[in-house]
Amino acid sequence: MSDNKIIRVGVLGACGNIGGTHTENLANYVNGAVLSRIYDINEERTRETAEKYGAAAAASAEDLIHADDVDAVIIASWDGTHADLAIKCIEAGKPVFCEKPLATTLEDAEKVAAAEKAAGKRLLQIGFMRRFDPDYIKMKEILDSGKLGAPLMIHCISRTREHPKGHTTQQHITNIAIHEIDICRWLLGENLTDVSVRFPRPTCFAEPGLQDPQLVLMQSESGVLIDVEVSGNCYYGYEILCELVCEKGTIRLPVAAEPLVRSYLNLGSAIPEDWTNRFVTAYRNELQHWINFLRGLTEEPGPGTVDGFEACKVSDALISAQDTGLWEKV
Ligand code: NAP
Repeated sequence: MSDNKIIRVGVLGACGNIGGTHTENLANYVNGAVLSRIYDINEERTRETAEKYGAAAAASAEDLIHADDVDAVIIASWDGTHADLAIKCIEAGKPVFCEKPLATTLEDAEKVAAAEKAAGKRLLQIGFMRRFDPDYIKMKEILDSGKLGAPLMIHCISRTREHPKGHTTQQHITNIAIHEIDICRWLLGENLTDVSVRFPRPTCFAEPGLQDPQLVLMQSESGVLIDVEVSGNCYYGYEILCELVCEKGTIRLPVAAEPLVRSYLNLGSAIPEDWTNRFVTAYRNELQHWINFLRGLTEEPGPGTVDGFEACKVSDALISAQDTGLWEKV
């Protein structure tokens, strides 16, 4: 696809949290694309959302993927649906933007990679949007400049105020830590080779049987040691922190800017309730990049199947490590 053609995009899972964000961004912020068709499991919500944006409502995911007025597809439905829907898009020859993770198992990730290989061309961009966040981009620029010397360690924190009911111990890896797996791999420019997981006592806010929080440990090819606190029910708000420790200094991700308020005997700033406002720019930029690539306006593809697949390899080893309590090879 190229020639500056306007790309007609269909969104699967358009009425969910991130589906709503992508739908709105496509309709209002992304140049070179139109929202042509949407589908979500809930028929009534699909119709309402379609009306709101002047798009058509599809009768099923397959109907949307094969529609003549859909040039490219966004998959924003829940994790377990990604691999199957991505393969359907690839087999239909349609470029696809697939939310993270690429798949919930390594086996399914392999099937997506095989489908893209059989198609003979790059057709998938994965929603590792932190690569498009201006703050992470600045961190990488400073690291790559070499002025702080070699990286030694990365400390990450991923805290969510409250996770939906039914969230599992494994989903801490496949749904949450998958972002840190990718961003650390991207920041360092190398693969992660060894992983381990430690469980502290669970918080009183965790459902019975859920290991929350977790401490994820990973080591890169060159020996950089990474620790990630993954908290799904931290109670107080949403926070993503990251600090790169190098030989001659450190690089810390800025905390999302909030006004500093002085009130009676108090000085402080608000903490966001959830992720929706933290990565606004990144969500818009990743979709714009995808559309620019499809229109031939940039030759540099966004993160793709290989990145999604590598992340699944790491998450697969981490899930083994949750069971064994040992360091596992990726
Ligand atoms: P959500 O609010 O539950 O939205 C998912 C939507 O998809 C729901 O409306 C759901 O309907 C619908 N759906 C389920 N199966 C479908 C299917 N086969 N075809 C079409 N629609 C289907 O979930 P979310 O929080 O937006 O997360 C969705 C995906 O985005 C997840 O994979 C998540 O990991 C990812 N995500 C990424 C980020 C990021 O920062 N990159 C942020 C949030 C989410 P029902 O509610 O009726 O099941």
